[in-house]
Amino acid sequence: MLHYGSGNYEAFAHPRKPEGIEEKHAYIMGSGLAGLTAAICLVRDAQMPGENIHIYEKDPIPGGAMDGYQYPLLGYTMRGGREMDNHFEVMWDILRDIPSIENADYSVLDEYYWLNKDDPNYSLCRVTEKQGQNAHTDKKFNVNQKAQEQLLKLYLTPEKDLEDLTMMDVFDEDVLNSNFWLYWRTMFAFENWHSALEMKRYMQRFIHHIGGLPDFSALRFTKYNQYESMILPMVKYLEDHGVQFHYGTKMDDVQFVIRENEKLAESLTLSHDGKTEVVPLTEKDLLFLTIGGLVENSSFGSQNEPAVMNTDLSDDGGWSTWKKIAKQSDDFGHPEVFCSEPEKTNWESATVETLDEEVFPYIKAITGRDVLTGHVVTGGIVTAKDSSWLLSWTINRQPQFRNQPDGHALVWVYGLFTDREGDYVKKPMRDCTGEEICEEWLYHIGVPEDKIHDLAANHCNTIPCMMPFVTAFFMPRQKDDRPLVRPKGSKNFAFIGQFAETPRDTIFTTEYSMRTGMEAVYDLLDIERAVPEVWGSVYDVRDMLKAAVHLRDGKPLTEMEMNPVEKLAIHEVLKKIKDTDIELLMKEYGAIPEDL
Ligand SMILES: Cc1cc2nc3c(=O)[nH]c(=O)nc-3n(C[C@H](O)[C@H](O)[C@H](O)COP(=O)(O)OP(=O)(O)OC[C@H]3O[C@@H](n4cnc5c(N)ncnc54)[C@H](O)[C@@H]3O)c2cc1C
Repeated sequence: MLHYGSGNYEAFAHPRKPEGIEEKHAYIMGSGLAGLTAAICLVRDAQMPGENIHIYEKDPIPGGAMDGYQYPLLGYTMRGGREMDNHFEVMWDILRDIPSIENADYSVLDEYYWLNKDDPNYSLCRVTEKQGQNAHTDKKFNVNQKAQEQLLKLYLTPEKDLEDLTMMDVFDEDVLNSNFWLYWRTMFAFENWHSALEMKRYMQRFIHHIGGLPDFSALRFTKYNQYESMILPMVKYLEDHGVQFHYGTKMDDVQFVIRENEKLAESLTLSHDGKTEVVPLTEKDLLFLTIGGLVENSSFGSQNEPAVMNTDLSDDGGWSTWKKIAKQSDDFGHPEVFCSEPEKTNWESATVETLDEEVFPYIKAITGRDVLTGHVVTGGIVTAKDSSWLLSWTINRQPQFRNQPDGHALVWVYGLFTDREGDYVKKPMRDCTGEEICEEWLYHIGVPEDKIHDLAANHCNTIPCMMPFVTAFFMPRQKDDRPLVRPKGSKNFAFIGQFAETPRDTIFTTEYSMRTGMEAVYDLLDIERAVPEVWGSVYDVRDMLKAAVHLRDGKPLTEMEMNPVEKLAIHEVLKKIKDTDIELLMKEYGAIPEDL
């Protein structure tokens, strides 16, 4: 039985080989993190022979959303930069066994741990305004008591009562105009019309990070872009174990036999090079399907061309195949809930390659750091809060690519509002070329206007990337809109990735995809080991006290505005806890003053 656990006991014991595993085969749709994790669990934990495992990927290369490429004639592209943390429990469980791409004597986890230990991440300037001036949010959340009450209410409201609700249904201007919301929405790409249910999950999931949110000391990053630091080592591990990768191969459809208490995938249809193949399946054939997709239909522009916003999902693969599957049972989810309103789910990023050091002084004036030291630069995103596109940008440790030319830096820029006219470039972001997006960024980092055009045109190469469905999973939803990882009655198949439902964890994270991959394998093959549970800080009173005090910008709870009855009640509670461990704990975490 699939179960969750924490602690060393189950983490360190090795599962025994499931009976008959040699006769089983696995077919995996998608080579993103979810598919690769499923394959690694099949090899490492289920001990399935690698040759029995087939990964079908419609693209010519693996990795899905986890990209980082240099395209000839175009330049370097990174659709995203991944903020990660130390409590991605499944991720580190897997990556401790995957050798680093640079040196097989240590693991991807070791590489990440040493890097972030030696050079901890934190930002010296989180928010700017007025063309590159520090906005001095100074790590403050700036949430008044009414806003605190709304946040607490959301935190404590059961998921079933939040179905279909948006942020605007649960927060008013007190939250939406606070620094808290500015930090949050730009860090996680939440929009005001997105799901309150997911916001609640996020607050619970990352409660231990509230204090590290304003300066990103909570975050950690990989050495290079995530394609090189994570995807390549995972793919190499799998290839070394004989796993079969089939690129340029699309899974077009799956046929299921659905009986009252039983569901069996009985065939799958593949297309490759214009040819179609139907593969029959039995109970011994396991099927793992990455449904939906946050980068489906994403498109690159160039220095001189805008990225096209393509919303046609008739044949993309992630959504079109899920739609066909979903028609066969109500237990297979409702893709339309997520992919029908691209105006609510798109944003655009751009990768700026600086071709020399001309822009660096402006960057240093904001970040307080030199760009090419190999150490932390921005330490997470910097948000230009008065930008009409709501632009944020980041420079991770350089180089971001192993073959990056000396003296060049790669900057990642993104805007949440692609339909609004820029402040310098009088066009919506989505209509802008790379050069124009770069100009808008340069304007917001304080480059004098007479220098902007020359720097964007001659000293940088900028590649825009439009992603119409990048926040599809944040659309307001109901419980059954995403199918369970293993739907009721499933004999031989599971859904994986961002659009499969697993409890407590939060979407738009690398961890979520990896978790679904592991859960799917453990459940279908009854692996005798616990899946590491979602980090339990939501149940840890220390983390909750810390978060409550941080959210109040350090003020103890006893300083809340209270009416006389509430004051009396608090007085009585404090009397009761006097000289107990509870009082000590409250003092240690600043919830009540030391000298009380
Ligand atoms: C811009 C951006 C920023 C991000 N920032 C962060 C962050 O800060 N922190 C964090 O933790 N995470 C972040 N993420 C999220 C993280 O990268 C993703 O959640 C994760 O990589 C998704 O993995 P997946 O395997 O679920 O799906 P995908 O990566 O989408 O993989 C699915 C794969 O399946 C293939 N496929 C789909 N349909 C078919 C078909 N019919 N046949 C064959 N193949 C098919 C696709 O081509 C794709 O390769 C970010 C993602 C993006 C795009």
